[in-house]
Amino acid sequence: MSNSPIYKRVLLKVSGEALMGSRDYGLDTGTLKAIAADVKDVVALGAQVCLVIGGGNIFRGISGAASGMDRAQADYMGMLATVMNALAMQSALEIAGVSTRVQSAIPMASISEPYIRRRAVRHMEKGRVVIFAAGTGNPFFTTDTAAALRAAEMGCDAMLKGTQVDGVYDSDPRKNPNAERLESLTYLDVLSRDLQVMDAAAISLARENKLPIIVFNIHEHGSFTAVMRGEGRYTTIVE
Ligand code: UDP
Repeated sequence: MSNSPIYKRVLLKVSGEALMGSRDYGLDTGTLKAIAADVKDVVALGAQVCLVIGGGNIFRGISGAASGMDRAQADYMGMLATVMNALAMQSALEIAGVSTRVQSAIPMASISEPYIRRRAVRHMEKGRVVIFAAGTGNPFFTTDTAAALRAAEMGCDAMLKGTQVDGVYDSDPRKNPNAERLESLTYLDVLSRDLQVMDAAAISLARENKLPIIVFNIHEHGSFTAVMRGEGRYTTIVE
């Protein structure tokens, strides 16, 4: 078993919903603590890690727009939700003993650094985990797209998408007991079969930048480390 990571620098995308645990809304501290412990293990393995956290556990722009709000305004609220999640994750990581920085795409000088690409790279080189907040800073985008964008900017070797199940299935494994897990896929497979991995903009960006996407179960303790060792169960999207 290899002790060094197969990827030197990775971006982990965690959806806001993943932070709810078994709750219907908001944050579950036990879940935050568990994810922080996994991130800590991966840092200890010698990898450089950055994070993008979604905001769907608090607010989604599209739901605001559906109930009559201006879409762009609602999207800014969604981005603010991601900042709250980023601060919660920062707290969990720091309590676990991991050194972190939050960089926000919407400057919020009192609580985070502004997003500065070269500074973010430097933090990671020093072993700090960088949490990118406020998505891309633009309405009409998602945090999946923000994750692909930041992963490309950071020169990450892979983008890891932590989900509720251990990879991409041909149908929803929580509804269909015969659903089959797909070991490896191409970007075009994901787009043409409309597999709900990440939105199309994120997949296209990853494809253009030859950025592998690894989909794994964020709720299974140790699976982030296993992926980083090239072990365990996950789906790889490349080429
Ligand atoms: N958002 C945005 N621009 C971005 C990223 C996010 O406007 O670059 C807003 C959008 O309203 C979105 C919300 O923030 O619904 C929360 O992000 P997302 O839905 O991607 O979170 P997740 O599904 O990963 O929890």
